[in-house]
Amino acid sequence: STVLEWHGKKDVRIAQRPKPIITDDSDAIIHVTSSTICGSDLHMYNGDMKGMLSKDIIGHECMGIVESIGPNVKNIKVGDRVVVSAPIACGQCEYCKTGLFSLCDITNDSKVMETMYGHRICGAFGYSHLTGGYDGCQAEWVRVPFADVNLLKIENNRLTDEQVLFLSDIVCTAWHANVLGGVGPGTTVAIWGAGPVGLLTVMWAKYRGAKRIFSIDCIEERLAKARTQGAETIDFSKDNVIETMQKLLPGGPDVCIDAVGFRYTKGMVHKMQRAVFLETDSPEVLDEAIVVVRKGGSVAIIGDYFYKSNQFPIGTFMEKAVTMRGGQLYCQSYWHDLLKIIENGEVDPTFIVTHTMELSRAAEAYKMFDEKSDGTIKVVLKTAF
Ligand code: NAD
Ligand code: ZN
Repeated sequence: STVLEWHGKKDVRIAQRPKPIITDDSDAIIHVTSSTICGSDLHMYNGDMKGMLSKDIIGHECMGIVESIGPNVKNIKVGDRVVVSAPIACGQCEYCKTGLFSLCDITNDSKVMETMYGHRICGAFGYSHLTGGYDGCQAEWVRVPFADVNLLKIENNRLTDEQVLFLSDIVCTAWHANVLGGVGPGTTVAIWGAGPVGLLTVMWAKYRGAKRIFSIDCIEERLAKARTQGAETIDFSKDNVIETMQKLLPGGPDVCIDAVGFRYTKGMVHKMQRAVFLETDSPEVLDEAIVVVRKGGSVAIIGDYFYKSNQFPIGTFMEKAVTMRGGQLYCQSYWHDLLKIIENGEVDPTFIVTHTMELSRAAEAYKMFDEKSDGTIKVVLKTAF
């Protein structure tokens, strides 16, 4: 069966592997129909996520058809059309029981992440032993553990893969950003990053009744998409973000959202106590957000950071009484409600899709998505049957 392997920095390769089999009674095997590349994959693609092993099977956003199930699977049947949750949850630990699925205590027993980054969250597909040793889903087939918890059944066959695929990750992530920031009717919100995640964050902010939405990026095609969703835009390569925001909205937005995450600019890996930590240096988004947000406002971080960011403006944060929240998405808490909203036609997340390619061309797709060339925003990878 066809899979995509990570071999090193900017090096991903199609390979053939034995088809996965059920290894636990709660597993399901999915025949993947569509998968996609996430901005989180780029951190790994660019070699910034230390701890990956060469030949790991990557990918964490997908959907498909259930081919077989283990004897303990109750909610899912063979032949069901399903979306797969990117974070893998057990459904039974204290975190899962309170809806904090991506903080699941059970599904990632790997010590690798804890040793390298000082913390450990849930299991996830496609980061191999860093997140519990689960093979990724940029592949023809994927094994899904705790299938009752980690699969969302799509009953309505009028919905295309593209309409529901991103419930696997970024549709839920973008909703999470709005929840963390507390975006609601009349809110003013500024969103750094107009990649797939930032654009869907704009879409949901509008849906939730935000009064004004600002989208900040330097790529014109992406800013143009944000405008189609009702955002005002700032090109940070032309205008100073802090000054422009202060002009457009004196006092600052109620909510600032970081949908960019870290960029590993300094190339520093240094020894700290017994562990090797990664030091990231891309503090400008957080700096700007904390400086720009109105007094008493909220900063939500859904762009990925793994460890430190230098120069954190702690004084501004403290004096202005800012609330700051972060986190990985909680798919299972949101996806039923968000599916209904999509099904009712109230939002259409397909506006981010710019390219559809066969899985066999995944290496080319990574390059385009990484370089943001050819107007690439979101690439859907189709499995050839
Ligand atoms: P992407 O790389 O396509 O988008 C990032 C965008 O940020 C790009 O358009 C880039 O031009 C822009 N950008 C770079 N520097 C900027 C700056 N200083 N100010 C404003 N914009 C800037 O990736 P994506 O798929 O949209 O993902 C975005 C982030 O979300 C990534 O860090 C990814 O890892 C993270 N993510 C988090 C979760 C979660 O659950 N928390 C889930 C999925 C993705
Ligand atoms: Zn992702």
